[in-house]
Amino acid sequence: MNNPIFSNTEKNLEIAIIGSGISGLCMAINLKKAGITTFKIFEKADNVGGTWHDNTYPGCGCDTASILYSFSFEPKSDWTRNYPKQPEILQYLEHCADKYDIRKHITFNTEITGAFFESEKNIWRICTASGEEYYANILVSGCGQLNQPKIPNIDGLETFSGTQFHSARWNHEHDLKDETVAVIGTGASAIQFIPIIAQQVKKLIVFQRTAAWVLPKLDFKFTSFIHWLGKTFPLTLRLYRWLLYLVHEFLVIYLTIKQNNIVGKMISALLDFQRDRVIKNENLKSILKPNYAIGCKRVLISNDYYHALQLPNVEVVADGIKRINQNQIITKNSGEYSVDTLIFATGFDTTLLSAIKIVGLNNQLLQDKWQDGAEAYKGIMIPGFPNLFMLYGPNTNTGTQSIIFMIECQVNYILSCIKMMQKNSQKYLDVKSDINSEYNEKIQVAAGQTVWNSGCSSWYKTKTGKIVNNWPFSTVRYWLTTFQANPKDFNFS
Ligand code: NAP
Repeated sequence: MNNPIFSNTEKNLEIAIIGSGISGLCMAINLKKAGITTFKIFEKADNVGGTWHDNTYPGCGCDTASILYSFSFEPKSDWTRNYPKQPEILQYLEHCADKYDIRKHITFNTEITGAFFESEKNIWRICTASGEEYYANILVSGCGQLNQPKIPNIDGLETFSGTQFHSARWNHEHDLKDETVAVIGTGASAIQFIPIIAQQVKKLIVFQRTAAWVLPKLDFKFTSFIHWLGKTFPLTLRLYRWLLYLVHEFLVIYLTIKQNNIVGKMISALLDFQRDRVIKNENLKSILKPNYAIGCKRVLISNDYYHALQLPNVEVVADGIKRINQNQIITKNSGEYSVDTLIFATGFDTTLLSAIKIVGLNNQLLQDKWQDGAEAYKGIMIPGFPNLFMLYGPNTNTGTQSIIFMIECQVNYILSCIKMMQKNSQKYLDVKSDINSEYNEKIQVAAGQTVWNSGCSSWYKTKTGKIVNNWPFSTVRYWLTTFQANPKDFNFS
């Protein structure tokens, strides 16, 4: 940085970033592009990638098309297919880390457990799980929303005598062949690995609590001609990216925001028709029919899920789980299922930043401030927590748009804040409380009118129904919202 706002040494950092997933890498690369190299990334794993490092279950991939699921500044012309799989996405992120020489800034195998704002010096004291302490003027969280696997509290789970693991911590050492395997959950993760393991196991029992809306997946391999085209005429890549953005944006508005609209109704009717055509068994047809408006929960995409559920060795149980007794799963209507392996595809604890103790001004604990649900200014800053920036924070998830778009908007906004501090030699930036409240009132009014509030449970909201994860407008509006920081929004020390 031309005008460092803090002396940058091994333990005294100008900028500390938590996590080297998509968010952390995007922040780091853009800091470098802006000429700022005085930052360190703390990563709890032994490699970059975040969610794409943690999730390695069979068939793991992204529901956003590859050309759109990449940084705008680092297009990739040789994706192997339209919908990328986890190894290729991880490879892409590794490539970005290497190309922009980010690894030298990363301290791997280092988990941050606490961050405390020391107001006398305007710095964050950052504590690691191994007891080390670092200091940073600016703290950026790249922890995201989906990194704490959630295991449900099922009676008797501790007595389970077989093998068990969560989809985000797949046990590749364990061979499922010839086993009876139970999968609990039928969300975005389950729908990807069920068709694959169904072909390997002796018997697969899928415990479904709520049926999902499943869209067909427009997946195809990219031929060498497509690769040649993208490489020779990069504009074609750009145009395809724009087209994908517009299609996703259309889905954001009509499938995941607006309630009761004609497009949502037409798509639901088409999906009902298609499902009834593909599923032969009447009982299965009724089990798999969603009983809530499309978009209320995450819309899934797959071409092989319904086929897998009809294989002779697969059974779908729509009865709730009552308890587990050794190797038996007992359902509410007294079904008993003996299983060898239990796979939890039960999603994540989406309480933001819950794994880190964050203490701001006046010793305020972030978890206390957020006891009624997380909220932040533009999803990025929290009053009373100066110089703390969040990537993929509250109300920044989208139902169907590329999350990378949202993250790039946030990085742009954070950079404009940092440049503002740098320009005025400020060491302290705290968003005004009233500005934040006004902003979040608007978010909640808009969120209350979306399809997410139309009568279903989902990870988009708290137990009391406050929608804390999703952005309730178009993503174009988010781009405009985060275009440039306004000095009037902040208190400067
Ligand atoms: P999820 O969408 O939260 O799904 C969890 C599943 O577990 C749901 O079917 C849920 O049922 C069920 N469940 C939870 N607790 C249960 C219990 N006690 N008993 C029975 N069933 C229970 O989790 P996920 O599939 O891991 O996906 C999480 C998010 O990660 C996605 O929404 C998406 O944003 C992201 N993701 C994306 C991709 C992709 O791009 N392809 C892939 C994987 C994940 P209910 O519906 O009834 O709650």
